[in-house]
Amino acid sequence: MQIGVPRERAAGETRVAATPETVKKLKAQGHSVQVEREAGLAASITDEAYLAAGADIVEHAAALGADLVLKVRRPEAEELALMKSGATLVGMLDPFDRAGLQALAAAGLTSFALEAAPRTSRAQSMDVLSSQANIAGYKAVMMAAERYQRFFPMLMTAAGTVKAARVVILGVGVAGLQAIATAKRLGAVIEASDVRPAVKEQVESLGAKFIDVPYETQEEREAAEGVGGYARPMPPSWLDRQRAEVAKRVAQADVVISTALIPGRAAPQLISEDMVRSMKPGSVIVDLAAGRGADGVGGNCPLTEAGRTVVKHGVTLVGETNLPALVAADASALYARNVLDFLKLVLAKDGTLSVPLDDDIVAACLVSQGGEVKRS
Ligand code: NAD
Repeated sequence: MQIGVPRERAAGETRVAATPETVKKLKAQGHSVQVEREAGLAASITDEAYLAAGADIVEHAAALGADLVLKVRRPEAEELALMKSGATLVGMLDPFDRAGLQALAAAGLTSFALEAAPRTSRAQSMDVLSSQANIAGYKAVMMAAERYQRFFPMLMTAAGTVKAARVVILGVGVAGLQAIATAKRLGAVIEASDVRPAVKEQVESLGAKFIDVPYETQEEREAAEGVGGYARPMPPSWLDRQRAEVAKRVAQADVVISTALIPGRAAPQLISEDMVRSMKPGSVIVDLAAGRGADGVGGNCPLTEAGRTVVKHGVTLVGETNLPALVAADASALYARNVLDFLKLVLAKDGTLSVPLDDDIVAACLVSQGGEVKRS
């Protein structure tokens, strides 16, 4: 099989879908790998490193013209025009964006969106949401620490004592857990909130405090259980009580990292303008849901501006939308391994491609085939 690895064209995208490590493994399986010139440069991977791993270095059109194309982001129209009808595409393809999937189908591609993989043990090694959210959670704390004008740890010095930073984490999925772990390593005092009850134990095992908002009705309890490990929208009654609890913590917080998402829907609004106003000057909010709010600009906080860092009511709001791209080398290394593991499910021993729909991971990731969108 001829495998192409184009350089990503999306603004600010520094990641690459294959690394010399994964190229070497694909070569050992008998495939040829065509990497676009400078595809890995933004992730500190040189063309020489790919060549040493056995790849060919090619131009843009040749990488996109391969039988199997490995991407980080969904191809733009200009890229789709260079892809062969009947080719296979693997990447993070925004499975909830119907128009985007239609464009893939119209280009005649068999496409697999890795974000759609189920969150099961077998799918863990190819779980791109987890590998990238883990990085985002880490980087969010790093960015907060950089913007915050005080220490994170408690320090006792000859010049006096410095208090530890109070950090509030909203949404404790993969990114939130890593944010807790990272802030803890820096010595912060941490409180966290999530709708899913299973999270309490995980938060406490990392040394943080869970903001308990008890469920009062069967409806609240059922919504909180979610589906497939994901959150569902919570009833307004519970959200009101959560808002009241969170508001108290946010008013005392130095740093808030918010990561709350509901798949296929707008991110829930958890930090109101009044809450921002109640925060101390110099506090920092890093909103990982930036651009995912109902208006496409805000996130868990309506004051967030996607892609920008702004100061409002004396609080710095970081609206970075692609944190993994700021840790390009490791984000690429983990993503490329996810891709390689997924390929094991669709590349037969003789090097041909198959689409075993009886495999739940393959069936979930398949988003276009034979000119049709395959996602309901
Ligand atoms: P996500 O990015 O979809 O959402 C982030 C977090 O926001 C979630 O924890 C969600 O419950 C929370 N949230 C949503 N609405 C909220 C609200 N109003 N207030 C507070 N928090 C809110 O989540 P994710 O990181 O992709 O993780 C989703 C699930 O998948 C989790 O249950 C996780 O444990 C599970 N998971 C399983 C595996 C596996 O078994 N292979 C791997 C990774 C993750």
